[in-house]
Amino acid sequence: MFIKGIHYQTGEAIGISIENENISSIEKLTKGDISSKLPIIAPGLVDLQLNGYRGVDFNSPLFSKEDVYNVTSALWKEGVVSYYPTIITNEDSKIEEAIGTILESCEAYDLVNKSIEGIHLEGPFISPEDGPRGAHKKKYVQKPDWPLFQKWQHAAKGKIKILTLSPEWPGSLDFIKKCADSGVTVAIGHTAATPEQIKAAVSAGAKLSTHLGNGAHLMMQRHPNYIWEQLAQDNLWASCIADGFHLPPSVLKVIFKVKKEMAILVSDAVYLSGLPPGTYNTHIGGEVVLTSQGKLHLADNPNLLAGSVKMLKSGIENLVQEGICSFPDAWNAASILPALLMNLPIQKGLSIYSKADFVLIERQTNHWKVIQTVKHGKIVYQDESSIEN
Ligand SMILES: [Zn+2]
Repeated sequence: MFIKGIHYQTGEAIGISIENENISSIEKLTKGDISSKLPIIAPGLVDLQLNGYRGVDFNSPLFSKEDVYNVTSALWKEGVVSYYPTIITNEDSKIEEAIGTILESCEAYDLVNKSIEGIHLEGPFISPEDGPRGAHKKKYVQKPDWPLFQKWQHAAKGKIKILTLSPEWPGSLDFIKKCADSGVTVAIGHTAATPEQIKAAVSAGAKLSTHLGNGAHLMMQRHPNYIWEQLAQDNLWASCIADGFHLPPSVLKVIFKVKKEMAILVSDAVYLSGLPPGTYNTHIGGEVVLTSQGKLHLADNPNLLAGSVKMLKSGIENLVQEGICSFPDAWNAASILPALLMNLPIQKGLSIYSKADFVLIERQTNHWKVIQTVKHGKIVYQDESSIEN
């Protein structure tokens, strides 16, 4: 297979050859090979935090292995080639059940297995305090429990790759060390920890802040506090929700300035993402409203967000529109940089011998439309209305 496009970083016209699942060569095109309408070619997107999509909720016991396949293939249309289904704080047995269904789907469908690089367990070892806890149910929040985590990891056949916790619990440091030694990326999130506890967690092996700036108190001591401390920790990556509602542009700008190539985007999208605007009844938050701008809020209070519904691509568009990042840097923050953090084979992006996981996109004023998605050398999505590649 030979695919032509404009390299998203260099602006050069290139042709990518694919053999088996890998990029076997990349050549610069000569003038005669270039049509005026070549699309942009960029690495596939990687979402480390996705709670569900198009009505499928990874936190409801009702989803099936087919649903996971449907989510995976719907994500290809959004340019997402790898993702981490995210399971949040719940009853122990419900968490295990959700893990089981995801595993079943990975075993049933090869492309699901290749697209789900791991499971993100967000909770239940988070802060019980109102504010930091966010929408997680208080009654299921608990202190870190290694045997329990091992039980879930066993059910997941080792596929839990990210664990978000709060290091405010006694015994956290020992727990973080054990997780890190076992190859799990520990993230700090939904936390009310002291700066000293944050610092100690990083020394123990925590590598990431989960949606930094969200899942926090509405009011806190100006300094020191857990947000400054996470910003200041040089070895800590930060994930952000850049949907235009969760963080003001100034906060996003500061995070990206301070963390540079250790700042990444997550969608943190809930299951209502991808559905039409309207009023929905949810099992956790009661009635919620999804606006046509993509804001999801509680029906009785438009100031209280009920989760994010925007995909990574709109986070990229937002960063570019706000002047926070160039287009290639914003794209990297949602593709090769999260892949680098998780040590995925696609971290090298568009390079020879790398997995052929990339997308063709077309610029349309302020947004980019995905017209083709390639996963492990297979075209898994093709927009019928465009392109003569
Ligand atoms: Zn969260």
